[in-house]
Amino acid sequence: MTSAVAARAADVEAIRRQILAVYRERTPRSAAEFARAAEVLAGGTTGNLRHFDPYPLYFRSCGGTRMVDVDGHAYIDCFLCNGPLLLGHRHPAVEAAIVGRATLGSIVVNPPLAADLAHAIRDAVPFAERIRFLNSGTEAVLTAARLARAFTGREKVVKFLGHYHGQDDQFLVGLDPSGLPLGAGIPTNAYAASVLLRYGDFEALEKALAAGNVAAVILDPAMHSGGLWGSSPEYLAAAKELTRSHGTVLIFDEVITGFRLGLQGAQEYYGVTPDLATYAKALGAGEKIAAVAGREEILRGLYPDRPAGAQAVFQSGTGNDGTAGLAAGLAAVTSYRKLARDGGYRALFARSENLAEGLRAAFARRGVPAHVNQLGPMLQIFLTEAPATFESCAGISAWPNELFYLALINEGVLLSLPTSNHVYLSFAHTDADIAEIVAKTATVLDRYDFGALVRAATSGAGRVAH
Ligand code: PMP
Repeated sequence: MTSAVAARAADVEAIRRQILAVYRERTPRSAAEFARAAEVLAGGTTGNLRHFDPYPLYFRSCGGTRMVDVDGHAYIDCFLCNGPLLLGHRHPAVEAAIVGRATLGSIVVNPPLAADLAHAIRDAVPFAERIRFLNSGTEAVLTAARLARAFTGREKVVKFLGHYHGQDDQFLVGLDPSGLPLGAGIPTNAYAASVLLRYGDFEALEKALAAGNVAAVILDPAMHSGGLWGSSPEYLAAAKELTRSHGTVLIFDEVITGFRLGLQGAQEYYGVTPDLATYAKALGAGEKIAAVAGREEILRGLYPDRPAGAQAVFQSGTGNDGTAGLAAGLAAVTSYRKLARDGGYRALFARSENLAEGLRAAFARRGVPAHVNQLGPMLQIFLTEAPATFESCAGISAWPNELFYLALINEGVLLSLPTSNHVYLSFAHTDADIAEIVAKTATVLDRYDFGALVRAATSGAGRVAH
């Protein structure tokens, strides 16, 4: 190691110690909760992505844009529980709807509330000729793929590198440029029919469809998990034209983009309509509900009345009639329609652009190498010297980003998922919240030399374990 790199490694170690010391000092009750939870909860949390080193925060209350941890510290929430809380925490209309449905019980067979919500969705998103409600984005995606396979009589599904579609084994592959499955326990034959392509490569898509047997092309129009690179209207239009000409079903996975990139989600934002779309997250505004929706002739696969000899597509779920999800969904969609009418989306997008610009200026003023991607009310911050592409940013060193995440927590700002530093904004975030996030970022950058950390990461110095 050269002396310059050694000096930088020493700086890195000092900064890391300081940030961790502040974190530990502020959050003793979260440390204790983690120890208690780890005795009974696998991994000490309710999901892998809720953990971060040295131990995650535990929260006791929330409201609007704020969450309060068990040590009593308030945070501006830019995590929104990974997206569902587009209306903010404890939105009055959503809370009232959940309370109001209590006399129905928590679950009841065929509640008219389901048709109420389906009509509200179709009024908002007319492409949704028919809708099936289910419990999670994962279920919606796997049902969409099954419907497409039944409709076309084909097997393969094109999936793009960097696009996340939930936890079904067939889609837990190619989350990064390596094209490998995500984590242990996924049998190779589970994703044997998944064709992995680079997003945006028109010729590769053309070739894959020409090879035949492709039931569906599925994509996340935000490319959220792979770096929030979004889509281009031209590529989506080309994908639509290609799938149409090959008789392949085009699926937009709008679990992230639905109701977020506009009332009609990515379809409105990019001006392209798919054959099927999946919804979850913002649809339920925090309650458990998801949907697969789209062209009636494809969803007809679920109908009980079949021509002789034809089999229906199976789909059923014990919780599909959950009244809290349906009631919350109805209140949420009603709120989104009102916001769309009253300029709420325009204001939210403008605020998000202001945040992106404020953050870029804060990094640039201090010479910290960073990229801030923004798409509607979502952002992602990359601390890296690499050029901004999916491939280069997917390979960035996670540790400066993790330290940035912790340093912002110490200032009272909670970003989304520590190694990715996504930011979600809600309709509840105000201009004052945006100014506060930018000011707290500036405080962090003034206090710690993140430029040195990022450069040390590039040189390979300062690899840390908490
Ligand atoms: N699709 C996309 C685009 C997602 O972002 C997610 C969740 N982050 C899912 C599907 C899976 O949704 P769920 O976690 O509700 O199963």
